[in-house]
Amino acid sequence: MKYEPVIGLEVHAQMLTETKIFCGCSTKFGSEPNTQTCPVCIGMPGVLPVLNKKALEFAVRTGLATGCTISLYSRFARKNYFYPDLPKGYQISQYELPICEHGRISIIVDGTVREIGITRIHMEEDAGKNIHEDRGNFSFIDLNRAGVPLMEIVSEPDLRSPREAVEYMKKLRAVLRYLGVCDGNMEEGSLRCDANVSVRPSGQKEFGVKVEIKNINSFRFVEKALDYEIRRQIKVLGDGGKIIQETRLWDSGMGVTESMRGKEEAHDYRYFPEPDLVPMVVDKKWTDEIRASLPELPDVKQARFVSGYGLPEFDADLLVSEKAMADWFEAAVKAGGKPNSVSNWMKGELVRLLNEENKSFDDCPLAPEQLAGMLKLIDNGTISGKIAKTVFDEIYKTGKEAEVVVKEKGLVQISDSDEIEKAVDDVIAKSPGEFERFKAGEEKLAGFFVGQVMKLTKGKANPRIVNELLKKKLSS
Ligand SMILES: [Zn+2]
Repeated sequence: MKYEPVIGLEVHAQMLTETKIFCGCSTKFGSEPNTQTCPVCIGMPGVLPVLNKKALEFAVRTGLATGCTISLYSRFARKNYFYPDLPKGYQISQYELPICEHGRISIIVDGTVREIGITRIHMEEDAGKNIHEDRGNFSFIDLNRAGVPLMEIVSEPDLRSPREAVEYMKKLRAVLRYLGVCDGNMEEGSLRCDANVSVRPSGQKEFGVKVEIKNINSFRFVEKALDYEIRRQIKVLGDGGKIIQETRLWDSGMGVTESMRGKEEAHDYRYFPEPDLVPMVVDKKWTDEIRASLPELPDVKQARFVSGYGLPEFDADLLVSEKAMADWFEAAVKAGGKPNSVSNWMKGELVRLLNEENKSFDDCPLAPEQLAGMLKLIDNGTISGKIAKTVFDEIYKTGKEAEVVVKEKGLVQISDSDEIEKAVDDVIAKSPGEFERFKAGEEKLAGFFVGQVMKLTKGKANPRIVNELLKKKLSS
């Protein structure tokens, strides 16, 4: 029997606010444990939370960018559970009245556009962090993260393959980064994902029993964990077994999901309206202002790059995946670079050099104007495409202008026919046998002669002129 997977994702995104959601403590990552805490976020009795308006604004921004309806009236709820990293014994979250509902995100998989529904986006506070170090038979608790604002973005069960799930995550991450509401750093945990997954016989309408997978913290693991879990469920059903509704933990070291606990139901958490916070009444005028301030989002930018700059769809897709990359591209074009050349150098050499140094376009050492300057030198014949690779490495590493590098290193292309002819003659004189065969019609030897002339001129001869001169020698 053939089975179809049904996947929904719950993504937790840490919001890029300066301070926590209900107190004034800093949200900076990587500080000494428990240095960014106060009576509110460590859950002392008698303290009162006050909502950070920026967190609400960020949630509304995200809702508007994903086509959600913004609830003009919403409120917080207590989610009760016990865990050492949750000092209050409850998490302030949203339950029956979330701030945003009914949105969507479109993804492209194998050339097909798919709309993935967003059920809801709600705000909540993060918990602290348990640290189990090998320092004895005890654990540590760091509460710096307790109270950091989160958005939980819940998708509809619209995803049908692990690939689609990865594409959805990538698109969502790009949108959050464009909006400036989350840095999307999965290694530091600012974007985390739980997945609900079930399988059903192909063609069946009803969903199968779903399993929740926790602890998926990279794009690679989203795909691997889902792949594993789908195969596991199909095998259980194929063997005549039943899927148990449960929560499973992804073990990235072993590459398996393992049963963690029976799936809790909403009523297990005894949700009730948070009595310490007033309901939120959002002003329509305010949401209109936020809507007007939204940046151009990846889908719109992608379409504009294709129609406006004539880029292939694939290239445009890559360029808009990071706002900083898209901005860099447009700055280089504005500085005079031809769109296709700029795009080719960016996705080839520039991405290679950035990857080598583990850098992104946010901290790209090369200025767009430097690339545009180098492209001008190629276009006007000052340097060859081959020499340009050397020049590119040099302008990237030194921050100098291409023109300066070319002068300093004597890399100017030789377009002087006399000088090149001398080199061609030298090469022919050194390889008389090859030249006879070339003259006799062995055309592929042209490459050999061009190569030798380039070697002799240290790559500086203008290849067009080399070819012309070779043709001339043939007929003479
Ligand atoms: Zn605090």
